[in-house]
Amino acid sequence: MSKVIKSNGINILIVEDNIGDARLISEILKEIDIGNYEITYASNTDELSELRLVKFDIILLDLHLSDLPPLDTYKLFNQAFPRTPIVILTGLEDDELAAKIVRQGAQDYLIKGTFGPSTLKRAIRYSIERKKSQLRLARAKTKSTQLKADAIHLKSETIRLKELNTAKDVFLSIASHQLRTPATAVKQYLGMLLEGYSDALSEEHQAFIESAYQSNERQLNIINDLLKVAQLDAGHVVLHKSMVDVNKLLQSIINEQAETFARREQKLTFLPLRPAKSVYIDEANIRMVFENILDNAGKYSPEGAHIKICISADNKHLLVAIQDNGIGISESDIAKLFKKFSRIDSSFSYSPSGSGLGLYWAQEIVKLHGGIIQLDSKIGKGSTFTVKLPISGRA
Ligand code: ADP
Repeated sequence: MSKVIKSNGINILIVEDNIGDARLISEILKEIDIGNYEITYASNTDELSELRLVKFDIILLDLHLSDLPPLDTYKLFNQAFPRTPIVILTGLEDDELAAKIVRQGAQDYLIKGTFGPSTLKRAIRYSIERKKSQLRLARAKTKSTQLKADAIHLKSETIRLKELNTAKDVFLSIASHQLRTPATAVKQYLGMLLEGYSDALSEEHQAFIESAYQSNERQLNIINDLLKVAQLDAGHVVLHKSMVDVNKLLQSIINEQAETFARREQKLTFLPLRPAKSVYIDEANIRMVFENILDNAGKYSPEGAHIKICISADNKHLLVAIQDNGIGISESDIAKLFKKFSRIDSSFSYSPSGSGLGLYWAQEIVKLHGGIIQLDSKIGKGSTFTVKLPISGRA
């Protein structure tokens, strides 16, 4: 291997076993304007492993090296320099061989003695550019193949996740149905005992059974929450809408929960809408939404707390704000509150048991009505949950 350095620029490898031809090529190169360049000469394949370490911009390759057939010479250099364009410079005027070698990736095939400086200049310039775009194309193809493979993988992952989700819905639904039936039977029998259907109970028995009754009720509440969410996630909620006077709806919920609030010595203030207005809603479902928020307001507020329910309206919406001065919720917790199974660790609450599903379900039901539940809260100060419903039943 010998080297001619004109200066830093295009790095050319001339592979030629005939010294005269090699000199001729370098003379032609001197005549053409291809900017700065550097030439390395090789006369056989012996130094290939050493040459491979150099990054050449172009290889001018004589096919007739003494030790190999022409096509094999090309293949050898092409394998050794897969990213470098190769221009064949040969004395062999063989159209078939030329076509074969070009098909295998050679950039050009020039017959010695038939080309001048301008042909060589063009061959070098075009070969370098062509090879660059071939490499770019190859990279793009690899990328596109990879993207296609990723897309197929994602598709099958999506199918798998959908199947898992369906399996989870089915599991939740079956599990909670199977749990609810025996739990409901237990409730009925305990209720009968408490109501004196059997022999009179001792004070001690009465206390035990009351405590069992309450535990069973908590269990049933959680099972019902699970069932409601399973139904919602499976897309099985059907709304049965009618025009409902929300003042009356809220008053009836307050009447039902009044005893619980009184037990905790919590004060309830209700400011109904004047004049009253009706909204187009599924009464049973929206009733459960308000029950849940009001129940939480009591559960997460201390004894003696004050809970206010205020209804207001604009042209399009009816707003029910349920405000407590209880433990409040931090800003970071507000973001996760309407997600499934989100319960906040709090040092204080009247009823630490719960499923963390109530607000998720409530938000989704209100959204199905075209509305939204908004929350304004400060830790230690209290929370205001505002249910915003479109009066027409549509967003
Ligand atoms: P559950 O009450 O069954 O745990 P919810 O979805 O109704 O489930 O409520 C989720 C969590 O939000 C509760 O565990 C509680 O930490 C918090 N939370 C709800 N309402 C209030 C409130 N008014 N004040 C403070 N925290 C509340």
